[in-house]
Amino acid sequence: MGKASRDKRDIYYRKAKEEGWRARSAFKLLQIDEEFNIFEGVKRVVDLCAAPGSWSQVLSRKLYLPAKLAPDKKDGIIPLIVAIDLQPMAPIEGVIQVQGDITNARTAEVVIRHFDGCKADLVVCDGAPDVTGLHDMDEFVQSQLILAGLTIVTHVLKEGGKFIAKIFRGKDTSLLYCQLKLFFPVVTFAKPKSSRNSSIEAFAVCENYSPPEGFNPKDLHRLLEKVGSPSGVEDTDCCSGWLEGPNKVYIPFLACGDLSGYDSDRSYPLPKVAGGTYQSLDPVQPPIAPPYKRALELKKASSQGI
Ligand code: SAM
Repeated sequence: MGKASRDKRDIYYRKAKEEGWRARSAFKLLQIDEEFNIFEGVKRVVDLCAAPGSWSQVLSRKLYLPAKLAPDKKDGIIPLIVAIDLQPMAPIEGVIQVQGDITNARTAEVVIRHFDGCKADLVVCDGAPDVTGLHDMDEFVQSQLILAGLTIVTHVLKEGGKFIAKIFRGKDTSLLYCQLKLFFPVVTFAKPKSSRNSSIEAFAVCENYSPPEGFNPKDLHRLLEKVGSPSGVEDTDCCSGWLEGPNKVYIPFLACGDLSGYDSDRSYPLPKVAGGTYQSLDPVQPPIAPPYKRALELKKASSQGI
């Protein structure tokens, strides 16, 4: 697909370039914020799986830049943003970057060190594995990333804090919902308008972090495994008997973003340019070391007979 054709078929791709976002994903976080007001009072935030960086840009524009221009008179704290990804990312003002794997236990330690012992108000995770197209496999790998995100949450998020995580809807969605409910009294699955209907992606918006009394992060996996097992977990209503029939768990699911706004599944005509032809903009910041770089090099070498 050519750039102009993609501009026509994907309005959020075009708008991202016009507004200086590195990826169209920026709109997903902005639309989640429109509905849930996730940035209110946030001074420390962790962006997991952040590359190429459009969510970090949103965090910088919404939190860091306004505070830098007009520091909060009450506490004078300039928001601290720590972004982590396997891939390196071009710099963003006000964002500390860490290249690392969120499934590695030491990643949480790195974040804590940056926060100088303080805890985060918000953790966001837009992590996605390389999608295989095998639905069950993709859903499974995605759920492992969410669990890695939740592990970090249990180390770095303050009580009352929020966690936003990308999920893939599938047969284990109820289980995931119940697992998240162990830690957050309010969990909503949200579908921003900029996320295509054809995509199984949605976002878990988890509010008011309240780990079970006496919870030790070392027990996380044991606790999660109990959810949905025959014995269930006694201390939460949600998770004992989430299976079927009258006990079935109904998950709050919300479409968010201006519903009269752009539809991500529709084509829009390209803007008319006076006396000229439409010029597609280049992407704002191409990934600096994408995982497909090596494949492209090999393809080029083979076409040149090297
Ligand atoms: N939120 C980003 C933005 O707005 O630009 C887009 C994130 S992209 C959809 C998914 C990212 O997850 C990729 O950059 C990938 O490198 C990262 N990722 C996947 N597995 C990871 C892991 N185990 N640790 C850290 N990052 C990971």
